[in-house]
Amino acid sequence: MSVVDHMLANVPVETVRYSYRLRPGAGARRALEAEWHRCRFLWNEAVYQGKSGNKPTRAKLGKLLTAARKSSTWLRDGSQNAEQQMLCTYALAREHSFKVKGRGKPKPKKRKTALPSLEYTTRGFSLRDGRLILPKGVSIPVVWSRDLPSDPRSVRVYRDSLGDWYASFVVRRDTEVLPDSDAGIGIDWGIATVANTTDARFDLRYRGHRKRCAPQVAKAQRKMARRRREGKKTRQSKDYHRAKRDSARAQKKAARRTRHESRVWAGHVVANHGLIAVEDFKPKFLFKSRMARKAADAAIGAAKRELLERGRRAGRKVVMVRPAHTTMTCSECFARNKRLELDVRTFQCDACGYTAGRDWNAARVILATAERGGRSVDDVSHLRSSSLGLAL
Ligand SMILES: [Zn+2]
Repeated sequence: MSVVDHMLANVPVETVRYSYRLRPGAGARRALEAEWHRCRFLWNEAVYQGKSGNKPTRAKLGKLLTAARKSSTWLRDGSQNAEQQMLCTYALAREHSFKVKGRGKPKPKKRKTALPSLEYTTRGFSLRDGRLILPKGVSIPVVWSRDLPSDPRSVRVYRDSLGDWYASFVVRRDTEVLPDSDAGIGIDWGIATVANTTDARFDLRYRGHRKRCAPQVAKAQRKMARRRREGKKTRQSKDYHRAKRDSARAQKKAARRTRHESRVWAGHVVANHGLIAVEDFKPKFLFKSRMARKAADAAIGAAKRELLERGRRAGRKVVMVRPAHTTMTCSECFARNKRLELDVRTFQCDACGYTAGRDWNAARVILATAERGGRSVDDVSHLRSSSLGLAL
C-alpha cells in the first residue's frame, strides 16, 4: 500500500450544505407556497398540542398526521414527505427547547411573517436533467453554480425575504487535507484594512461594497419616504414595497460580495498557516459610530466568522487573543507603552526604541501572545516579568 493509497483510505468525511439558486416558474412557485401553507398549518397544530399539554412527541405527531391526511383532501394534496419533515423539525425544536440553554419553545408560524422553508428527504425529491423534482409533479430548474460533491441526502427548499428561492442540499464530501504547516500568522482587525496580518501578503483590504451600494440604497429609501402612506395600520402601496425590496436587494448584494471575498481570503490564510492568532474582536465597540464604521464592522464580522469556521474544519490551531493592550505593547520586547492616539500610525517603543507600523506591531503582538500560550497580552507580560524576576 503506497502512502497515497493510505492517505486516501483515511480521508475523513464531513457533512456540509451546498446551496443553489432556484428558478421556479409561476406554477412551481404556487405549488411551493401551497405546500408551505400546509406544512405551516401542521406546525401550528403541533404548537397548539404542545400548549394544551399533550406532549407532542415524534410518535404522537406521526399518528396525528396519518389521521389528518386520512380525513383531509387538502393535506393529501401535499407531499407526505414534506409534512412529516415539518413535524420532525418541530419535534427537534421542542427537544432543543428543553436541552439547549436559551432556546425558547417553538412558536406559531404566522402567514404574513414566516418565510417558507420546506424539507425533503431522498424519498421526497430527486434530481433529473439538472432540475429538482418534488412530489406531485413539481419540477424546478436549478442554477448549478458548482457541482455537488456527492448525492444529496436531503434538501431544504426556502424563500428569502426578497422573494428568491433556494435549495440547500446536505451532502457528504471528503475533508480537504491540508499539508501541515509550522507557519503562524497574527491578525489584527481594522477599518481601512479589514485584516492586518503579520504577513502583508495576507492582508485583507476593505473593498467598500456597502459604501458603493449606499447611493442606490439611499435612492430607494427616498422613494419609500415619498410613497409612504400615513397612519399606523394603513396598508402601503405596491410601489412602496417595490422600493423597499430594491433597497434590501442592493444591501444583500453587497453583503454577499463581502462574504465571498472573506471566504476566499480565509481559505488562503488557513491553507498556509498552522497557527492562526486572531484578535477577539467584539463588534459592539464600533457599532455606535458612523456608517463607515458599521460597514467595516460587518466586513470584520464576516471575515472572522469564515476564518474561525475554516480553521476549525481544517484542524488548524486557532487562538483568540483579547484585544486589550495589543496596540500599546511592543512586539519586540513586550514592554507596555503609553496609549497611542488613533491618528498615530507608527508605533515607537520607549523601552527598546523599536519602531513599526501601528497595525503591523499589533498583529505581531497578537501572534507572539498566541505562540507563548497566552490568551491576552497580560498573561504573557506577567509571565515575562516573573521569569525576569527569577533570573535576577
Ligand atoms: Zn520594545
